[in-house]
Amino acid sequence: MSLSEIGSALASAESRAGRAPGSVRLIAVSKVQPAERVAHVLKQGHRLFGENRVQEAAGRWPAFQELYDDISLHLIGPLQTNKARQAVEMFDAIHTLDRPKLARRFADLAQERGSCPELLIQVNTGEEPQKSGILPVETDAFVAEARAMDLPVTGLMCIPPAEEEASLHFALLAKLAERNGLPELSMGMSADFDKAIAFGATYVRVGSAIFGERVAPKD
Ligand SMILES: *Cc1c(COP(=O)(O)O)cnc(C)c1O
Repeated sequence: MSLSEIGSALASAESRAGRAPGSVRLIAVSKVQPAERVAHVLKQGHRLFGENRVQEAAGRWPAFQELYDDISLHLIGPLQTNKARQAVEMFDAIHTLDRPKLARRFADLAQERGSCPELLIQVNTGEEPQKSGILPVETDAFVAEARAMDLPVTGLMCIPPAEEEASLHFALLAKLAERNGLPELSMGMSADFDKAIAFGATYVRVGSAIFGERVAPKD
């Protein structure tokens, strides 16, 4: 699909769900994509992008930021504590706050720098051992812990298990966010962003549907 087709699909999903136009923001996930595809999407006027690796983002985005001064970059992949400084310097939002140690690191960096990117807490809604994220039952306590550190937590993020019905996970994430008074919900990818919008997504993270298939990254 082209960027404008995705835009229309997103707008009609908003309207079907009775959501206000523009209430869902499209994060174009550019990880592993060739620079010319990213350049093309920038030329069409899109400015909000997602990357899942700090190193890769650091290699690619400074050159584009020379050309466009209103790019917004979101980190959507796991973050090692030793890359936290680089991440807070580079990203406008980080969707993968997933453990107390990282929260403490962000709090230290926020104190030192006087600012902190928008933060979303990743919830492991499927309780998958190989996936990062806070367990659903621990989410309320972790939100409270992060707030006690004055971290600017705005919402929750999830990646549903591949083999399960995504709607159940979207509904669970929406419930956890609502009961914690968190306005942002980062959920929905190429295959299921319309469903995620029906359940209240405010950020959808769409990669292959915009840019085409990725060459599988080494994860
Ligand atoms: C790669 C990735 C996406 C985008 O996936 P597509 O299926 O290509 O849309 C979304 N979220 C996260 C966390 C990702 O790593």
